[in-house]
Amino acid sequence: MTAVKIIEKTCKSCLNKSNITDFTLNPYVGCEHACRYCYADYMRRWSDIEDKWGEFVIVKTNAPEILKKELAKMKGTNLGSVWIGSVCDCYMPLEQKLELTRKILETFNNSGKKADMQIVTKSTLVRRDLKLLKELDAEIGVSVGIGNDNTSSIIEPKANLPSERFSLFVDLNKEGIKNFAFISPVIPGLSNLEEIFSQLDKVGCKEAWIEILNIKKSVIDKLEPIIRKKLPEYYSKFIYGIENYNMFCKNIEKEAKELSEKYGIKLGNVIVHQRDFKK
Ligand code: SF4
Repeated sequence: MTAVKIIEKTCKSCLNKSNITDFTLNPYVGCEHACRYCYADYMRRWSDIEDKWGEFVIVKTNAPEILKKELAKMKGTNLGSVWIGSVCDCYMPLEQKLELTRKILETFNNSGKKADMQIVTKSTLVRRDLKLLKELDAEIGVSVGIGNDNTSSIIEPKANLPSERFSLFVDLNKEGIKNFAFISPVIPGLSNLEEIFSQLDKVGCKEAWIEILNIKKSVIDKLEPIIRKKLPEYYSKFIYGIENYNMFCKNIEKEAKELSEKYGIKLGNVIVHQRDFKK
């Protein structure tokens, strides 16, 4: 596997206004996890990077200092909602050494400001910061859209295996940290909802959100050859699902509701993307 290029840069701002939450904050641009379905690679447009998504990470080295200044300037104590890691996994392997996400959490914690903080991750490294996350009353979404370890290791080559991610719920619950499963993306042929809900039930997860695969052209162009070559047993179901996307989405919504009732796991939003083969 290609080594990831690490690029250190300073940033001028840290908290960004967003349509989804009040603010997003990304300590890194790029993501080591290199998931084959990732659509955050549009972020490359705003940089001069030519490397492929998953092969570079820009580290915002001064993010904690900039955040400290931004927080000091903000009026009032309540910031609203803040999503840390909207276009990266802020607990990617690099974070173990750099501790940039940790420093950002510490900055929030020392600022005297309150925020509804949310982090979605595929990494068990989040365990390192449980105490801090509890103090911040943060909510953690554990992302798991493929329940099978072998399949995941092909499609999400650098993320922790699903079996390792499922085990996070036990620790999150033990620490009293708000949490939910982010079943994302649901990929035709590869994602087995029954298998995922059953695992979530075993580890005490009480809420699940769902995001169905974004079938924009750039995503399918990356995913299709890998499934064809490395997971041929799922290929026909995959193609059928993307060619009949609306029906696939309806079926997933129906199945998710049934499984939510069967396992007593609350169903949050089911996110469906626009069908878009052009971009
Ligand atoms: S963990 Fe998230 S941001 Fe990182 S490559 Fe995977 S989908 Fe993209």
